[in-house]
Amino acid sequence: MTICVAIFVKKKIAMAIMITEECINCGACEPECPNNAIYEGGAEWKYSDGTSLKGIITTLDGSELLADHPHEPISMDVYYITHDKCTECVGFHDEPQCAAVCPVDCCVDDPDYRESEDELLAKKSFMHL
Ligand code: SF4
Ligand code: SF4
Repeated sequence: MTICVAIFVKKKIAMAIMITEECINCGACEPECPNNAIYEGGAEWKYSDGTSLKGIITTLDGSELLADHPHEPISMDVYYITHDKCTECVGFHDEPQCAAVCPVDCCVDDPDYRESEDELLAKKSFMHL
């Protein structure tokens, strides 16, 4: 008799981190981010901020643009995280540093935005040479 054993390899699916409206704008998380992915409400974000990206870059989705091109703020009133730069701290720390320091626990998983650990590592490699 042949016994078939199916082996499922579980791949970690991570959720990106987002900041909720509960944010009290204390600013504690911003300097902790290894990717400079956190911005004050109303501030424009750039790929070049806190990364090694400069000049013309090709993003992971194939877009070509200037690294210091300013992008529209994602929130006007409270601090925000840009998914394009957040790696959930993968490759730097064991846990999201913004969530670790936030005094009101408003840095939470974003259920609508999921990335695999491989994708997060690829993002880190893209931003930091
Ligand atoms: Fe930055 Fe890490 Fe927070 Fe993402 S999880 S915004 S990389 S501190
Ligand atoms: Fe907002 Fe928390 Fe960051 Fe303070 S640490 S700015 S409350 S997200």
